[in-house]
Amino acid sequence: MIQLKGIAAAGGISIGPAYLLGKEEFVVLRETISWADIPAQIQLFEEALIQTRREIIELQKRISADMGQQEAQIFDAHLLVLEDRMLIEEVISRLKKEQLNVAYIFSEVLKKYIGVFLEIEDEYLKERTADINDVGKRILRNLLGKEKKGLEDVKGRAIIIAHDISPSDTAAMHTKNVAAFVTDIGGKTSHTAIMAKSLEIPAVVGLEGVTSKISPGDTVIVDGTLGVVIVNPDQETLNSYQQKLEQLKGIADKFLSVKDLAAVTADGRTVLINANIEFPDEVPSARLHGCQGIGLYRTEFFYMNRKDSPSEEEHYQAYKYVAEEMSPHPVVVRTLDIGGDKFLSQFKIPYEMQPFLGWRAIRFCLARPDIFKLQLRAILRASVHGNLKLMYPMISGVEELRQANQLLQEAKEELRQNGMAFNDKIEVGVMVEVPSAAMTADILAREAHFFSIGTNDLIQYSLAVDRSNEKVAYLYDPAHPAVLRLVKSIIDAAHQAKIKVAMCGEMAGEPSLALILLGLGLDEFSLPPQVIPELKYLIRSVNMKQAQQFAVEAMQLATGKEVEEYSQNRLAEVLK
Ligand code: PEP
Ligand code: MG
Repeated sequence: MIQLKGIAAAGGISIGPAYLLGKEEFVVLRETISWADIPAQIQLFEEALIQTRREIIELQKRISADMGQQEAQIFDAHLLVLEDRMLIEEVISRLKKEQLNVAYIFSEVLKKYIGVFLEIEDEYLKERTADINDVGKRILRNLLGKEKKGLEDVKGRAIIIAHDISPSDTAAMHTKNVAAFVTDIGGKTSHTAIMAKSLEIPAVVGLEGVTSKISPGDTVIVDGTLGVVIVNPDQETLNSYQQKLEQLKGIADKFLSVKDLAAVTADGRTVLINANIEFPDEVPSARLHGCQGIGLYRTEFFYMNRKDSPSEEEHYQAYKYVAEEMSPHPVVVRTLDIGGDKFLSQFKIPYEMQPFLGWRAIRFCLARPDIFKLQLRAILRASVHGNLKLMYPMISGVEELRQANQLLQEAKEELRQNGMAFNDKIEVGVMVEVPSAAMTADILAREAHFFSIGTNDLIQYSLAVDRSNEKVAYLYDPAHPAVLRLVKSIIDAAHQAKIKVAMCGEMAGEPSLALILLGLGLDEFSLPPQVIPELKYLIRSVNMKQAQQFAVEAMQLATGKEVEEYSQNRLAEVLK
């Protein structure tokens, strides 16, 4: 049994067999063969080449259909490797000369080739190493008769162990097959972690080297709440986790008992508890968990895992569905937020050294009014079907807000000219997630209908900590006094201007910090749906005077650690 500690990314406990994704290290045995075996070994090699070719062409077709021809072209280089006469002849001549099994000979030749390419100065040729490696692994797998692996092949309720999983791969996961996942890299508020939460898949990320510590089929316990992973647990540990699962179910039932009640403190202060969603089909689950609205609808996931961009009609249908399902409750549609760790192949965003500081979100949309206005028109059209609001991400100052609003006016005008109905009074909010927006919240508040604090980004930008980098994850701290001060000043500025302020970053769903946020005067919390019952329970257990006192005391502390300890203690008292 080994116990490993990573970053707790999505809560809950799962136990199951390990499934190693994308790790194709084969053990190739060296076996002597007889002269008579040589023709059969050559035939095996040829069949493996044919099979590999078939697989690559099939993959190329699928990628071309899903993502476009350009993406599919990378496989042309793979096909060229398969036709490399020098490589094929070297394998056959060594096979005859050395009389060793073809898988072993091939793996030796492959190693030599990769070694030679790595030595070459030419960048283009160097890059071909990855192609040779990739194709070589495929051939080897076919020679050894191993199964092909991909997320789509996962069967049963497996624990996925991978170096990294992209947000779009997470979005494509089938929850019935994936019990949990663990990755070598990543941070707590990366979009992969956020997706895991919304799919209710426990996840531990940033566990460096985990892919080399777990073998396929190992029994693994993933405690996504504590960030703990236990490999091949002994019977005692297994029993204790099974008991813990039972206890958790008991606690969850207690929270669920208040899910449909208002989030009102013992002395009468009511706040709104909304849900964060990424897809329209999450609405039923959000409602089931007792949400009072959708506080953040991350629309960029709509563009993922497809080769073209959604049409205005497709956008409209999606927003209309959410608006109608939630009506009369509010739905805050956030306009496209790509860049950072979310890439869309359709838009060909160039490689950037620091994508989180680069061409992202509103910056991209202002530069591409065609894409932006298409979405704005769809949101406006859907606004007649319910209580829709719209919100811009990554606003860094009032000029960007004005530019975005200018395009909104144009979108309205276009609809008017086409005689299409929309709610002219649709509320327009600003995500406060860039420190410059936080510092100028008083100015922004004059021109926004509401604020929503995006702490996932606000923390990374104010503490200068990449939210998806496990190396600096220890510095990513929502309890940091700088974060609390920024949050307080945003809330105060909003209230001064008489507008409401929500929080839709993950911090809003941290129960201990939620007490402080309540005390600071936050009006709305928007969270992954499954945390809603717990937060409602908590708010109903405290009174506002207490929470305000907690906030005052927390604001006087010097470090995040002190704030965390203090708020955990208060949480324990409140829930006693
Ligand atoms: C945030 O930054 O807190 C937020 C809610 O937006 P996202 O996580 O999608 O960047
Ligand atoms: Mg953000």
